[in-house]
Amino acid sequence: MKTMTCQQLGGPCDLAHHGMTADEVIKAQDRHLKEMVAQGDTTHESALKEMKGRWKNPIKGMGWYRKTKRDFAAFPEG
Ligand SMILES: [Zn+2]
Repeated sequence: MKTMTCQQLGGPCDLAHHGMTADEVIKAQDRHLKEMVAQGDTTHESALKEMKGRWKNPIKGMGWYRKTKRDFAAFPEG
């Protein structure tokens, strides 16, 4: 199990996401951004927009995705 924060995933806060894979924490972050914005939080709006742009633009988003996977792999377990 590894931990990545909202901030490490391009967001504004330090909420920690836990997962076994980079995909898990990326999905958790996606969910978190949507929840925060749905609650009226404006600080997460730009991060959500960027995240949505990545899904729409898989080629452009791939660089971020690869970097996140690399970062995740570099983190110690626990
Ligand atoms: Zn956040």
